[in-house]
Amino acid sequence: MMGSQGSAQEQLFYSFSLDDHVPRDHLLRGIDRFLDLGELRQHLAPYYSHTGRPSIDPELMVRMLIVGYCMGIRSERRLCEEVHLNLAYRWFCRLDLDDRVPDHSTFSKNRHGRFRQSDALRFVFEAVLRRCMGEGLVQGEGFAIDASVIKADANRARGVPGSEVANWRNGQDCSRAVREYLDGLEAANPVTEGSDDRPAEPRETRKTISLTDPAARWTAAPAGPAFFAYSTNYLIDLSVGIIVDVEATPAFRTDEVESTRTMLNRVEQRFNLKPHRLVGDMAYGAAPMLGWLVHDKHIEPHVPVWDKTARTDGSLSIRDFQWQADRNEYICPAGHPLRSEWRQFANPRTHITNADTVIYRASQKSCSGCAHKENCCPNTGHRKIARSVYEDARDVARTVCTTPAYAQSRRDRKKVEMLFAHLKRILKLDRLRLRGISGAHDEFLLAATAQNLRRMAKKCWTVPEAIPV
Ligand code: SF4
Repeated sequence: MMGSQGSAQEQLFYSFSLDDHVPRDHLLRGIDRFLDLGELRQHLAPYYSHTGRPSIDPELMVRMLIVGYCMGIRSERRLCEEVHLNLAYRWFCRLDLDDRVPDHSTFSKNRHGRFRQSDALRFVFEAVLRRCMGEGLVQGEGFAIDASVIKADANRARGVPGSEVANWRNGQDCSRAVREYLDGLEAANPVTEGSDDRPAEPRETRKTISLTDPAARWTAAPAGPAFFAYSTNYLIDLSVGIIVDVEATPAFRTDEVESTRTMLNRVEQRFNLKPHRLVGDMAYGAAPMLGWLVHDKHIEPHVPVWDKTARTDGSLSIRDFQWQADRNEYICPAGHPLRSEWRQFANPRTHITNADTVIYRASQKSCSGCAHKENCCPNTGHRKIARSVYEDARDVARTVCTTPAYAQSRRDRKKVEMLFAHLKRILKLDRLRLRGISGAHDEFLLAATAQNLRRMAKKCWTVPEAIPV
């Protein structure tokens, strides 16, 4: 017999447990198991007033943001609707059925106020990382570094020449992102107290700059159209791919590479973690970076060396010259020395150029009568070789590149690339929603926190057995 639903009369009382209606294997159950925000209230306490109306619980806001970033819900307005309707999201946020969901504007107010002042999102990221370490997911033996370009929330058509930046302050109501950017520029050009200098004017050397988000960098993928973007820089532990640090930078290679120092130093200071090896692509193989890794940090660089000295026209390259470290000279294929100084100076000189190189020269006499001259230095009187002051660190990296451990490191590096693919495809962070470097910082920190929580739930959480009724 066909059944019917019955009357639509409303029931007066319900016995309802949210916990019973969240599937046992729901991802948020696994994440909740490892998320402890108990210390967040304590961390934020100095930023709240002791009087007035009670605020929205910061733990509730952070839990809602984690739902958003874990589930790829990019809009805060939509996030509020989803938390209102979805029982699992309500359960994760510790909201009962009749509890009110905060308004989406609450997130913006807190982000620009307490959260940024207290660096609350980094506090949450580090709390999750600490838990990952407690679960044994971070070994600290090898780290990998990489950057991924994420589009900024800035229209391509709203780009202007960088020379116009100096006039921006004249407009009184410039946006928060513009103010933040101008403040940064002024901080980089400080005025010495008591000097007669005019106040520093923002100086911008870039050709194209966004009116809506000036800190974003005009960049382009190969064969693609240019756009404004930031880079998210990940430092990951290679054992299971936990992100140990994240840094937002403009999408510019120099900034990306420099973030390596910031992140390695911060992880060492905060968690006493220093890897034995660092894996990266050729962008991280510039001489100063290799010198810093090898000499200052004593970290083995599993990085291809950035080397443009090889000649492609068949003439003699640097590698055809033999380096004699004890004599501080090269020996050319004809057996003659190339030296940085051919005579003693009364005051010793370092011979280091602005490019951090030392120039080694053959003698004019030996080159002029040499059989190799046409193949060695056809357009100059004698051969010169510029040797980087970090050349011994580059040699260490070159030696590492020939080992089986390096071949393994190449395979390990895919872990960081997969995290970026996951970030863009699953978490849908292929374009930023917030503006300014602070906005990028907030979004990247939350996304990395979500990725670590998802990874921890996947590795350490087992779905509980159903209790027989
Ligand atoms: S040209 Fe000069 S540097 Fe080159 S092989 Fe001959 S002697 Fe050596």
